[in-house]
Amino acid sequence: MKMFDLSGKVAIVTGGNGGIGLGMAEGLAQAGASIAIGARSKQKNAAAVEKLATLGAKAIAVEVDVTKKEDWERLLKATLAAFGRVDILINNAGITLRKAPEAYTLEEWHHVVDTNLTSAFLGSQAVYPEMKKVGAGKIINTASLTSILGAPFNAPYVASKGGMLQLTRALATAWAKDNIQVNAVLPGWIDTDLAKGARRDMPTLDERVRSRAPAGRWGQPEDFAGIAVLLASPASGYITGTGMLVDGGYSIML
Ligand code: NDP
Repeated sequence: MKMFDLSGKVAIVTGGNGGIGLGMAEGLAQAGASIAIGARSKQKNAAAVEKLATLGAKAIAVEVDVTKKEDWERLLKATLAAFGRVDILINNAGITLRKAPEAYTLEEWHHVVDTNLTSAFLGSQAVYPEMKKVGAGKIINTASLTSILGAPFNAPYVASKGGMLQLTRALATAWAKDNIQVNAVLPGWIDTDLAKGARRDMPTLDERVRSRAPAGRWGQPEDFAGIAVLLASPASGYITGTGMLVDGGYSIML
């Protein structure tokens, strides 16, 4: 269907070498987009490019640290060299570090906030001129259920994800005039490397997720293919500044 067609479109996906980011990248690839992955691990990057190629997509990966402005310049340059344009940016790279709020060092705070939030600011600034040039753009920010709910064990993460939702709204209001839609996706509990630590630290988590989420299961990376295509495609032309929950109903269960 044309409404969800991404043929000829080019997407940058940070943290696209695994987990939710790769799930989103696979969705975009299946809809016809070319993909530029930005993440740190050379091995994971290479494996993800190979996986996307099996879907018939053109894909590259660039080793970058999304907290560094110069790495964003490198990622943009490589994307333009390979594909000539940027239509879609998915700010998805993220980390967590669980401890009591009083136990974090300032460096740890900055590490989490810079990776999860400042990176999206840098990335959005980097691609804006290119999107403006083509007269359209889509920015998708991976936020979290912790954008709207608190948690006692990861203060900088919760703060960064709350900020991610508000950054989404700020950019959406500023760049609507340029036909750029900016939206956030709020995942619930998703079975990825990032959630492995939480499962280890909280032995009751698995049972809690299964019993509270009406879906009765953890989310999987492939659950993010559809939302990525929706928010990257013409189908979402009048959707901007939203935060869309992808949590199997976890947040609406009493
Ligand atoms: P993963 O650990 O599988 O993915 C994280 C990705 O971010 C990896 O691809 C990693 O690649 C990349 N990354 C981390 N730091 C950097 C950095 N400094 N520069 C570039 N890339 C970086 O976990 P998820 O897929 O779960 O996480 C993806 C997003 O989803 C995150 O923003 C997370 O906060 C969010 N989320 C996850 C939830 C869950 O339950 N899993 C719930 C809510 C939100 P590499 O290590 O190679 O750099």
